[in-house]
Amino acid sequence: MRDDIDINYFKHRLELRLNEIESAKKANAPVELDQSRMGRLTRMDAMQQQAMNQAAGRLTEIERQRIRTALDRIKMGEYGYCVQCEEDIAEGRLRADPSVLTCIGCARAAETG
Ligand SMILES: [Zn+2]
Repeated sequence: MRDDIDINYFKHRLELRLNEIESAKKANAPVELDQSRMGRLTRMDAMQQQAMNQAAGRLTEIERQRIRTALDRIKMGEYGYCVQCEEDIAEGRLRADPSVLTCIGCARAAETG
């Protein structure tokens, strides 16, 4: 358990974000294409929009899983440690995104392969 960072602060932010994602998901009932209200929107635009929504949905799902993992790690007392090298994750990095699971070094290594 890290005692150099305020775990409760991060826990709070993670829970808020998780609530946000889950309520958005509930509100996001499948949208039917209403031709009369589409105006000048072409079928092509509509399909593009739908593809973008689906991509955003996938990203949100990935974020939701990361948040759940981060919350689990708080319970286990492992929050704030890199899942790969077990080093401390910098506090600034956690503040930017409380759901990050790796340190900057491992994140960079993953990006560059
Ligand atoms: Zn690492």
